[in-house]
Amino acid sequence: MLKGKTALVTGASRGIGREIALTLAEHGANVAVFYAGNRDLAEEVCALAEQHGVSAKSFQCDVSSFEESKSAVEEALQCFGGIDILVNNAGITKDRLILQMTPEEFERVLDVNLKGAFYMTKHLFPHFMRKKSGKIVNVSSVSGLFGNIGQANYAASKAGLIALTKTTARELAGRGVCCNAVAPGFIDTDMTAAMPEAARKAALESVPLKRMGTPKEVAQVVAFLASDASSYITGEVIRIDGGLCM
Ligand code: NAP
Repeated sequence: MLKGKTALVTGASRGIGREIALTLAEHGANVAVFYAGNRDLAEEVCALAEQHGVSAKSFQCDVSSFEESKSAVEEALQCFGGIDILVNNAGITKDRLILQMTPEEFERVLDVNLKGAFYMTKHLFPHFMRKKSGKIVNVSSVSGLFGNIGQANYAASKAGLIALTKTTARELAGRGVCCNAVAPGFIDTDMTAAMPEAARKAALESVPLKRMGTPKEVAQVVAFLASDASSYITGEVIRIDGGLCM
């Protein structure tokens, strides 16, 4: 499905991003595995991806830094000779009620989740324009669609990411580039493992399918949006939430 393509996935060392990188590799794409600090885990993802007969290389990059992300993207472009698919997956939480949330906590989450995706898109924008093809998939969240108590920063960043998705889709449509978002609900990763047990239990009770989603269940939708199978879809947001927000 993606043979001969090259995908750049941010936050690919762990959780959903790792599974996205491996699933795209399984479908034949070479992968640029971007990570923030976990080099060993990123190397492990590269080794597993290569078992599918594709090329994979890790790149350290804090997406909230304009300069760092710019040079990492340039390095990846040089290494692979081009990028066909960008997946903006890197994300963090710093949950707290608005009453207690500090301006720094609010800003840091916006910097990584929203500015990071903007920087990555901006760095690859001229490349996609020249190529006149490409796929961008942004990993948002149901929090960005419906809000969530204790997640003012996170929900705002993920809602912003949806607006960024639609704007990117409009700006690049004339060049044959599609940009879409996925909005996962509760997915079993380090991020949700950090939730207090009571909050996890309450969250699961509100999911019609009565279980958490797996990173693979998100990755399969991302692979669809990264492939030609979704050629007439752009500016869309697909929920992957077991029915939570229907
Ligand atoms: P995770 O397990 O905590 O992994 C986060 C990933 O992001 C790691 O690869 C991490 O790299 C990377 N990262 C963190 N800060 C970064 C930075 N400043 N620059 C670059 N990379 C950075 O998270 P996850 O649960 O897989 O979530 C992945 C995405 O899905 C996020 O955008 C999240 O908001 C979204 N999402 C998750 C859920 C869920 O239930 N899990 C639900 C909805 C949406 P290192 O390993 O190097 O630190």
